[in-house]
Amino acid sequence: MDSKQFREAATSAIDEIVNYYDTIADRRVVSNVEPGYLKKILPNGPPQDGESWAEIQKDIEAKIMPGLTHWQSPNFMAFFPASSSYPGMLGELYSAAFTAPAFNWICSPAVTELETVVLDWLAKLLNLPDCYLSTTHGGGVIQGSASEAIVTVMVAARDKYLRATTAHLSGIELEDAIAYKRSRIVALGSETSHSSTQKAAQIAGVRYRSIPVSKETDFALTGAALEGVLQECKAQGLEPFYLTTTLGTTATCAVDDFASVASTLAKYAPPNKPGEIWVHVDAAYAGAALICPEYQHLTASFEHFHSFDMNMHKWLLTNFDASCLFVRKRKDLIDALSIMPSYLRNEFSESGLVTDYRDWQIPLGRRFRSLKIWFVLRTYGVKGLQAHVRKHIKFGEIFAALLETRKDLFEITTKPAYALTVFNIVPKVADKKEQDRITKDVYELVNKRGEIYITSSVVGGVYVVRVVSANPLAEARYLRKAFGILVETAEEVRNGKVR
Ligand code: PLP
Repeated sequence: MDSKQFREAATSAIDEIVNYYDTIADRRVVSNVEPGYLKKILPNGPPQDGESWAEIQKDIEAKIMPGLTHWQSPNFMAFFPASSSYPGMLGELYSAAFTAPAFNWICSPAVTELETVVLDWLAKLLNLPDCYLSTTHGGGVIQGSASEAIVTVMVAARDKYLRATTAHLSGIELEDAIAYKRSRIVALGSETSHSSTQKAAQIAGVRYRSIPVSKETDFALTGAALEGVLQECKAQGLEPFYLTTTLGTTATCAVDDFASVASTLAKYAPPNKPGEIWVHVDAAYAGAALICPEYQHLTASFEHFHSFDMNMHKWLLTNFDASCLFVRKRKDLIDALSIMPSYLRNEFSESGLVTDYRDWQIPLGRRFRSLKIWFVLRTYGVKGLQAHVRKHIKFGEIFAALLETRKDLFEITTKPAYALTVFNIVPKVADKKEQDRITKDVYELVNKRGEIYITSSVVGGVYVVRVVSANPLAEARYLRKAFGILVETAEEVRNGKVR
């Protein structure tokens, strides 16, 4: 493809993409293809002779579209959103054009420097304490996902803990102590932490314990519950070294009680002393709300914690992937992840004046992801992004208010939070098993029909449905439509009259 052909092809592709977005609400939101559908309609191998773009592009509508679940559709109310925007797409386009696995500063200084600048902007916007800024001892780095961020900080926490608690030893004694401690150290999360913490513990080769939460605290982790598990671990000779706290849990968007967690840790594992517990704040989705002053009180305890991560690609209009990880001490990441083979040596790295982000992450190579964040921040501005978040939170309240008008059919589990509403269907006769059965049946039927797409979860042992109103194209009318579908389906299922 030469420049002229690229210009034509790109114009045609952009036309098709714009048209897709303009009409997306008319498409069935969940794909209903059979597993293996694509293999049946694609040839057994690539063509011997190259094809024209026109030939290739035809297959987008004919072969790919049927197998897409349309995450950008306003009828997509499942999971948390993966928001896309035109400035975000332009960022991806330029990133592709400038392709460079810019692992060291000199591999493309702009890639490193824009990331540092944009993440400092973001840290201030999210009201993170100054210790998370690159101008102090901290800094931000873009990871691929919140899960990747958790593995990264857990490895840094593990090495920091082992180093600090064995610093008085040397030689074989040191090796033995590290080997023994590695078998005793524990990563902690709560029952409502995202599964990525358990997965990270699996990858880091450490034990995992989850701390109980209850309906009384709206499924948030408290210092008292943490204290109980710390005491248990001590009694069993286990050593907690890491804790995930969450701002916006996946099931209900609960916010952990950061202040009581900080005061419990001050008592049991004081910060900045050997044996301290690294606290990570997983704000993958709801952390976006911190750009609004009315949520910024939530960061008050973060100066006592060690890392924070928020996905711009969930709620803040930045195309996947852009998970923004901030650490209080960049040295902790570098100590755990830096390796300097001769082929990566260069005068700039050795000068100590530049950041080499390869030392802040698992992979070596990295994409130019800060471009899309920069484009999004500049296109919408702070006010535009605040309005975006507030609008979605309002839609959640509208949807919850609609559910309240049919208390005979719906029971809200936890107050709508961060554009997430969680509820179950009320059975005709109060019975827990029957309630779970009909809630599950309604959920499955709604998704099978594919007019809207929602997800389910189990909260406090109760089967629930989750509706998220934070899709970039969300509007109150789509939530009213979803409510109508849910009423109709719940009545059908309750009356045993499923079409
Ligand atoms: N943390 C929370 C609270 C989440 O809700 C999710 C996913 O929705 C994750 C972590 C994992 O996110 P990622 O897909 O970026 O790894």
